[in-house]
Amino acid sequence: MTISILWFRRDLRLADHPALLAAVDSSDEVLPVFVRDPVLLARGGVRAERLEASLAALSADTGGALIVRTGEPAAVIAELAETVGADQVHVSRESTPYGRRRDDRVRRALAGDGRELVETGSPYAVGPGRVLNKSGEPYRVFTPFARAWHDHGWPEPGDRPDDISWAADPDSGASEDVDPGPGGAGRGGEAGEQAALARWREFLHEDLTSYGDQRDRPDLDTTSRLSVHLKYGEIHPRTILAELADHPGSDSEGARRFVTELAWREFYADVLWHRPRSAWRDLRDTLEGMDYDEGPETAALVEAWQQGLTGYPFVDAGMRQLRAEGWMHNRVRMVTASFLVKDLHVWWPSGARYFLDHLRDGDLASNNHGWQWVAGTGTDASPYFRVFNPVTQGVKFDPDGDYVRRWIPELAHLSGAAAHEPWRAADGYDHGYPERIVDHAEERRETLRRYDRARGDGS
Ligand SMILES: Cc1cc2nc3c(=O)[nH]c(=O)nc-3n(C[C@H](O)[C@H](O)[C@H](O)COP(=O)(O)OP(=O)(O)OC[C@H]3O[C@@H](n4cnc5c(N)ncnc54)[C@H](O)[C@@H]3O)c2cc1C
Repeated sequence: MTISILWFRRDLRLADHPALLAAVDSSDEVLPVFVRDPVLLARGGVRAERLEASLAALSADTGGALIVRTGEPAAVIAELAETVGADQVHVSRESTPYGRRRDDRVRRALAGDGRELVETGSPYAVGPGRVLNKSGEPYRVFTPFARAWHDHGWPEPGDRPDDISWAADPDSGASEDVDPGPGGAGRGGEAGEQAALARWREFLHEDLTSYGDQRDRPDLDTTSRLSVHLKYGEIHPRTILAELADHPGSDSEGARRFVTELAWREFYADVLWHRPRSAWRDLRDTLEGMDYDEGPETAALVEAWQQGLTGYPFVDAGMRQLRAEGWMHNRVRMVTASFLVKDLHVWWPSGARYFLDHLRDGDLASNNHGWQWVAGTGTDASPYFRVFNPVTQGVKFDPDGDYVRRWIPELAHLSGAAAHEPWRAADGYDHGYPERIVDHAEERRETLRRYDRARGDGS
């Protein structure tokens, strides 16, 4: 009787799971394991809570066979492998800087005992690092990457193995409990593989074709909300792409836009693979000399931003949604991030940290490169000098003010788009909404002055 270990990480599902298939093929029984890593849990925040819900669903899907342990992964995995006599530990290949370092440690610990860490598949349709240009170099700009990514293609989804022989816990009763907790808030908040598939198919049938027109509208709230499911690997993007290709609406503008958004996720993972330092440092150094603010006065402004009390309704609605739901609409992520960097003149990593601590879908590659895109320090050709106007963005993408009123009760009395500009209404501040903490027009000019100085174009 041979046993292999399947070590789950960002792949908490059983279908379309290349590493699981490899484990099943290589042994008579598979021991399913998850390791709670204190390093990751230390900054887990709402993600840790959501992870528990996902683990509870996975545990149920394995008929209770999932073993959960807390500890340093190299020690926990090597010890388990020795106890059950597993020659192979199967994983999906990790691409974050910490995940790669950790896996190197685990690989070395296993090799010391003549055992092997086997990497099969990844959380992406195309594994990070695989899409290269004709000179064998990584792409630095999104559009050519997306084209090459599409041309590269991806295999069909793998089947869910019919009958997996799960190995028994070698130390029966030692597996830690998982606490399903509230699971998650809002639509698509249910955790686990079944919930992820249900959410995806609901979106595919109901909202995909209108996605092209509606994806920028936080008031309509018709985006897929798959980010959190993708974050924990409850669904593989290949499954999504294959079902999308078979759908009658696959030629629609909505479908094309949706695939492009998935490609952004793949692009950012690829960038992080090639340039791990870009997680917390400016990717391009053209703005290296940029002057950012700090100190007590700035801290008070940042606190107002975090609490949703800037006096700019679209920004505040987003920040309140973030705290309440652990999720924020993409358009609003861009505008709130821009506000921190370009209206409050704060360097992007501090905002990226705050988002990661509060987003259930918090993902180092997408989040930190999303922030760099906004800050103008990232890969993309996005103009560094573009400064989102928080008022006109709100009026354009929440034209009836519904999104703002949903999150800001102090503005519930203002009808339609008036909710975006309480300063214009005689009773705008009657219910406790704060006045603007900065003057956007002035801060925009200040940002442009600082850019000129940083680039050596100004005085
Ligand atoms: C400042 C900032 C921070 C962000 N932080 C994160 C994060 O921590 N985790 C995260 O998953 N996404 C992040 N994004 C990207 C995007 O906002 C979310 O993926 C999206 O809002 C999730 O909602 P959805 O699943 O309904 O998206 P949909 O619009 O339905 O898109 C489908 C999927 O495509 C991917 N996607 C969409 N837009 C992007 C994008 N701009 N970049 C990368 N992938 C994208 C996501 O996997 C998403 O689930 C961030 C964007 C910005 C501007």
